[in-house]
Amino acid sequence: MSQGGGRVWSEVRSEHFRLHTDLSPDVAAKSAVELEKLRRALLLAWGTDFNPEGSVDVILLRNTSEMAEFTQGRYVGFVSTTERGPLLVMSGEGYVLDNGPEQRLQTHELAHQLSQHVLLRQPRWLAEGLAQYLETTHIKPSTGEAVLGRVNTNSRDYVTRRGWLDLDELWEWDQKDSLSEAEGQRWTAPRSTPTAASSSCAPQAS
Ligand SMILES: [Zn+2]
Repeated sequence: MSQGGGRVWSEVRSEHFRLHTDLSPDVAAKSAVELEKLRRALLLAWGTDFNPEGSVDVILLRNTSEMAEFTQGRYVGFVSTTERGPLLVMSGEGYVLDNGPEQRLQTHELAHQLSQHVLLRQPRWLAEGLAQYLETTHIKPSTGEAVLGRVNTNSRDYVTRRGWLDLDELWEWDQKDSLSEAEGQRWTAPRSTPTAASSSCAPQAS
């Protein structure tokens, strides 16, 4: 498929996504289907009738190390906006590793993107809190049932270790680490250790 390390890019379209990816075509097609399912599940957070129009460009890199290369190790995924509309940059054959860190990250990024349709202005603590809450959304493979609101163990462990932030600290977050909009999201890379997913995202476009 690829020669001499060269990567073959392809585009896969589904109803709400345009995937640009160097995953193999069959995995790419499967990923588009899974993203559609995930989108539907996440939208349930805002009610069964909510279904914003438009499609989203997604750059889906093969894995987290390729993402590290793409962003010089600074990000493992982000949400941005181009003149074509929203753009998600994420990695992974997440569906192969059911419920693995890449899938959570994809859910997280998609949650950011979808929540922007509902909450037009989001302070950073809200944007990030909401995405962390929704990133545990899971679709049971046996029944197709969506499960929302599972405990985010990474966030819980973070609070257990570091304690709660007070209100001033929450609001100060908007002033810190102001990244360009294109770098709208920064995470410590989620490796296999359970302590790794504390996140620090820039403010979403408002
Ligand atoms: Zn985030």
